[in-house]
Amino acid sequence: MELLDRLFLGTTVVLLSLAGCDSGEIGRDELDLVISGSRIMDPESGLDAVMNLGIKEGKIKIITDQDLSGKNFIDGSGLVLAPGFIDLHEHAQSDEGYRLMVRDGVTTALELEVGTRDVSSWYDQRRGGQVVNYGVSVGHIPVRMAVMGDEGSFLPTGVGGSAIATDEQIAEMILMLEQGLSQGAVAMGFGMAYTPGATYEEFRSMLEVAASARVSSHIHIRGGVEGVRRTIDIAAEVGAPLHVVHANSSGGEEIADFLAVIEQAVSLGQDVSTEVYPYGAGMTEIGSALFDDWETYTDSQFAMHQWVATGERLNRDNFEIYRETGGKVIIHGRSEEATQIGVTHPLAMIASDGFVEEGRGHPRTTGTFSKVLGQYVRDQGSLSLMEGIKKMTLMPAQRLERTVSQMQGKGRIRLGADADLVVFDPSEIRDRSTYEDGMIPSTGVEYVVVNGRVVVNRGELVEGVLAGSAVRGELY
Ligand SMILES: [Zn+2]
Repeated sequence: MELLDRLFLGTTVVLLSLAGCDSGEIGRDELDLVISGSRIMDPESGLDAVMNLGIKEGKIKIITDQDLSGKNFIDGSGLVLAPGFIDLHEHAQSDEGYRLMVRDGVTTALELEVGTRDVSSWYDQRRGGQVVNYGVSVGHIPVRMAVMGDEGSFLPTGVGGSAIATDEQIAEMILMLEQGLSQGAVAMGFGMAYTPGATYEEFRSMLEVAASARVSSHIHIRGGVEGVRRTIDIAAEVGAPLHVVHANSSGGEEIADFLAVIEQAVSLGQDVSTEVYPYGAGMTEIGSALFDDWETYTDSQFAMHQWVATGERLNRDNFEIYRETGGKVIIHGRSEEATQIGVTHPLAMIASDGFVEEGRGHPRTTGTFSKVLGQYVRDQGSLSLMEGIKKMTLMPAQRLERTVSQMQGKGRIRLGADADLVVFDPSEIRDRSTYEDGMIPSTGVEYVVVNGRVVVNRGELVEGVLAGSAVRGELY
């Protein structure tokens, strides 16, 4: 049955390509790039067949079982050709970060949880191209920090997190969020766990902005299963599209119940989605509100924390010192069973929550996507390859495409779509980064194409090709 489907779909696409762009008229060398002989997998159409693909001017021009020629050629035999991976939760928005994540197959990296308060400047800083496509949300956290006068650099370390906002301050936040959307923010971001002073009433006021613009709100909830239920209820009341970030981290060992709450809302027709990263440890700022109760920790609780800069495990003494100086800490402790439930849940997209600074970071920054395809798809057989690909391509594209029309051309392999593509070896793909060294590139990602240009060639980054462009929201 499955084979029959494949053959049928393969045939359909050949006919489409012949009819759609009249391959007989594609002259020799007219195509910019040809990838031949790959197993092309597209989660939107269900296409799963060995075919040839031709690219012209950054777009997919032809998919066929006929031979193709072009100015450049990749022999993709034995490899899988899939849409490039779209990461909805990526804090490593720097050249250093982009260079690492592209070797994990990422072609579009979006910072949608924390976001920025100055959307125009954020895009201006990246003008002229980056290794991968990039985009940002306007974030309630940085907006709140600006309005309240918090001194933290990335997350609140003072009043921006802990203080209750006045009506005037809330009105100011609303204005800044609206301004960010008008400057092309891709979404709105929230981190309720980092802003304990923000009441649910404040949150409701912010979500009303998202609801009227119909943009996706990417939220780090607080309070586990009860918290996600309450958050979903408020989003339903105001009619805001909601995306719950890292269900694995926010749900913890109760992830099955956590996901059941989301599943129920979806079954009732609410616009809610979620994502996970495939690791049992998290990472965040040691100075953030998540650790406000650190003085009550037991020795074993301290030892669950690992200092990113040195790799050392923490105790009461050095925790106190680092809490003062600030920096990133990895938090161990979730079971593999919980991670497995998250990764394999049909509603869960894959998103890295990556971050890197001066060569240090969590392994999820470099290994998220290849870990899912290597460990959960190939080694464990917990997901089919098509399901795995769908979670990192089509599903994130669909999350945003209603208000970010550029996303309609990403996350799928079809004629006219953006040529953002990854070519990987399904028998070799594997993450290699560890908690001690989070910067080791994955293996098995052989080629990555961004907007039609080859940025990873035979597993190595091609220097100087800044093919990625800005992804911006519709209100811009
Ligand atoms: Zn995050």
